[in-house]
Amino acid sequence: MYKWFVNLISIVVFNLVFYHIAAAKELPWLHPAPEKDNIDAILSSLQANQMLVKFTGTGGVYLHTRDVGVMGDPFYTNPSMGQVILLRALKPNQAIIDKYLPPTDKIAAILVGHGHYDHLLDAPYILTQLPRQAKLVGSKTVNHLLKPLVNATRLLSTDDFRVSGLLPGRWIQIHPLVRVLAIESEHPPLIVGYYPANGQLKFGLAKQPRHALQWQSGKTLNYVIDFLSHPTLSGNEPSEVMFRVFYQSSASASEVGFPPNWLMEEKRGFDLAILSMGNFQRVKNYPTGILRKIKPKQVLLIHWERFWRPYEPGKGMPLPGLDIEKFLQLAHAAVPDTTNVVLPQVGASLIISSSQNIDK
Ligand SMILES: [Zn+2]
Repeated sequence: MYKWFVNLISIVVFNLVFYHIAAAKELPWLHPAPEKDNIDAILSSLQANQMLVKFTGTGGVYLHTRDVGVMGDPFYTNPSMGQVILLRALKPNQAIIDKYLPPTDKIAAILVGHGHYDHLLDAPYILTQLPRQAKLVGSKTVNHLLKPLVNATRLLSTDDFRVSGLLPGRWIQIHPLVRVLAIESEHPPLIVGYYPANGQLKFGLAKQPRHALQWQSGKTLNYVIDFLSHPTLSGNEPSEVMFRVFYQSSASASEVGFPPNWLMEEKRGFDLAILSMGNFQRVKNYPTGILRKIKPKQVLLIHWERFWRPYEPGKGMPLPGLDIEKFLQLAHAAVPDTTNVVLPQVGASLIISSSQNIDK
């Protein structure tokens, strides 16, 4: 407990020291457009071969084609550093979620990278805003953490499906038009080789987690998300993949959490890599390794802002000590000039087009 406390105090000190440095830097942000990006209008005007990609804050993303959407690690509540350090009970801020949550009527699932509060706290409430068949997909620990909060029929454990060591893993078909592959990854250390709340749960909780340290990470996961051009129940035909997305909401050392060889051998490239920036300096060869391996056409950088400041689109403030310029240099050096590397402000979105021919 003492060690965690010291770590959290160090973050506060960092926060104070780096506040002005971070604020002064001019970075190539993609800013959100006025009027909440007018997302309803954008979704209704999407072509069959287009996808809206929105950075919703912290590790959160919102991916939506004309027909279906997926959310990853949605998080809006942003409890203050004081609430976190003093181990106050954390609760989703429903008012702020209701205000900023994009349309949910076609969302097929929420994918969760790990169980820390900044990845999972808001997910149970957001699940209540989704269609009844939508599932929350995460590790066994994530399932156990949510047992008191979410009906078991809506939780899907990746344990029997994930890529791990020699286990090849297999697709989880979460919707006729979407399949996901969970890949065991790792969590970057926060301070000297260590990160807090790193446990795995063996049993479902009887009472909901309260303070920050009770939101245990469990196994950290990356995901490959395939948006398919035609509905399928078993779908293993690469030619049917309209968009292939790699989603990594925590930095990992090179080769840990990478897509498995059998997937790479398909020769179906990645349209988009969504990469977490937080603590990237503490893991080896990141993001260089993953970018060189999967060669995505576009890159979206997330989890760079102070998630303990009140949620406000366009107003994210870089994490203390995070060298965003360095990350950008590394990312650009690892991909061809033609690859678009996007640094989105909170709430910013872009539209990407599929390279596949879609006859729909
Ligand atoms: Zn974490």
